[in-house]
Amino acid sequence: MREPGGVRVVKLYESGREQERVRSIEDAVERVREARSEGPICVKIVARDGSVVYDSEATGDIDAWEAEWRLQKRRIAAGSVHECPHEDPGCSEESLCVECKIDRERERAGAV
Ligand SMILES: [Zn+2]
Repeated sequence: MREPGGVRVVKLYESGREQERVRSIEDAVERVREARSEGPICVKIVARDGSVVYDSEATGDIDAWEAEWRLQKRRIAAGSVHECPHEDPGCSEESLCVECKIDRERERAGAV
């Protein structure tokens, strides 16, 4: 999944810090994995808005974090709000408005 604006990986060493900009969380996770062998004190993944999403000291193992992150993304995707193109405020994935139902029928018919 691509993060608009990029993600930063910050590595803290005894002697200073290194920063790298990557395209996605996946790329950042790879960098964190690679960094383990370089022995930094702490590695962080910083989102575009400046929030630290991963901190090796506070959060722990990157593999566990990544698994949790993927789960969360999936949960968000599954619960994504249906946006009604016909601007019916009562329209949702559970109860589509008449226009959306017709659209779905058409999609289904077109897909066959
Ligand atoms: Zn609708």
